[in-house]
Amino acid sequence: MPSHNGRHFLQIPGPSPVPERLLRAMSMQVIDHRSAEFGALGKQVLEGCQAIFKTSGPVVIYPSSGTGAWEAAIANTLSPGDKVLMVETGHFATLWRNMAARLGIEVDFIGGDWRHGADPAALEARLAEDNAHAIKAVMVVHNETSTGVTSRIPEIRKAIDAAAHPALLMVDTISSLGSVDYRHDEWQVDVTVSCSQKGLMLPPGLGFNALSQKAIAASKTNSLRRSYWDWEEMLKPNANGFFPYTPATNLLYGLREAIAMLLEEGLDEVFDRHRRLAAATRAAVGAWGLEVLCQDPREYSPVLTAVVMPPGHDADAFRKVVLEKYNMSLGAGLSKLAGKVFRIGHLGECNDLTLIGALSGVEMGLAAAGVPHRRGGVQAAMDELEGRSLANSETAAVA
Ligand SMILES: *Cc1c(COP(=O)(O)O)cnc(C)c1O
Repeated sequence: MPSHNGRHFLQIPGPSPVPERLLRAMSMQVIDHRSAEFGALGKQVLEGCQAIFKTSGPVVIYPSSGTGAWEAAIANTLSPGDKVLMVETGHFATLWRNMAARLGIEVDFIGGDWRHGADPAALEARLAEDNAHAIKAVMVVHNETSTGVTSRIPEIRKAIDAAAHPALLMVDTISSLGSVDYRHDEWQVDVTVSCSQKGLMLPPGLGFNALSQKAIAASKTNSLRRSYWDWEEMLKPNANGFFPYTPATNLLYGLREAIAMLLEEGLDEVFDRHRRLAAATRAAVGAWGLEVLCQDPREYSPVLTAVVMPPGHDADAFRKVVLEKYNMSLGAGLSKLAGKVFRIGHLGECNDLTLIGALSGVEMGLAAAGVPHRRGGVQAAMDELEGRSLANSETAAVA
């Protein structure tokens, strides 16, 4: 591996680069997690999470990856043999389905082509057929990180309501929280699952469950076994800012600062920034003559863009050239997309110039790897960021 100077470009869709400010906030001595000082920190982060999830209900924080938070959502609400409805949006939805099956849940998995989000009409039709209300939960991935497709949660909520179905709604926001508009209470989500290393810009190690009253009620009567993941064990000490076991103290210092950063910029501004960066990325992909994997413009992900490789060209060979020549990591295609797509992350601590740097690396890498493309993608992205299309500037030049 050649040596590089300058910084590494970590343009995978999570973990995302950790801002210097968060690294500094975590560079602290560990404190006694039973002390009053810790209780104050615990209260601050638990309340701050409510602002980020947009909920007035409790948010549970685990020392875990996102996968742990997936398991907590299932273990606290469902019973062996329960039926749930899930949608095959991509790799992560499939992993969550597999986990549910291993835990003894019967999953009705609506098939998908990995280029579209969860279809609200298909969900409504399944729920409307379920007169006996056998389906206990609808479980969807908000931003499918393997494909760059964002499902429309408000429409999914409406579909459940239109079928007058009492199923719980559980949503994986692991790669959307802090990057894409999300409203736990307003959209009446029962369990929102998330984690620290994507839109929250932190290192891996924190998992989250935001809970509705309906979810808490389900946890009182469900019969899946749990101990470490038990919400009730968490909620009791959380009331005073404490945890039932040793929390990830230094990540909580970081979380306090990450919440402050997001609120200082303003959540709406954060979401706008991600949408702009995503639009600029798609402008580049179009100018290169390549194809974005997501096929429905309503579902373009603000977090990442998956790009389809031209036939006969391997995405992993291209990513290797980009890493070795330009010191940039791009996301790989996962499972059935392996080698067929690469993914450009544009989330978290990413601004116009970071993105233009990343897209420059992609454009130079396409040339270096001999991948057929047109030049001018970076220019198209700059035009998009400046809010003028090529057509407009040509008109201006003629006039
Ligand atoms: C990253 C990711 C996961 C898995 O999270 P881990 O922290 O690796 O366990 C699950 N779902 C989605 C949508 C993700 O992006």
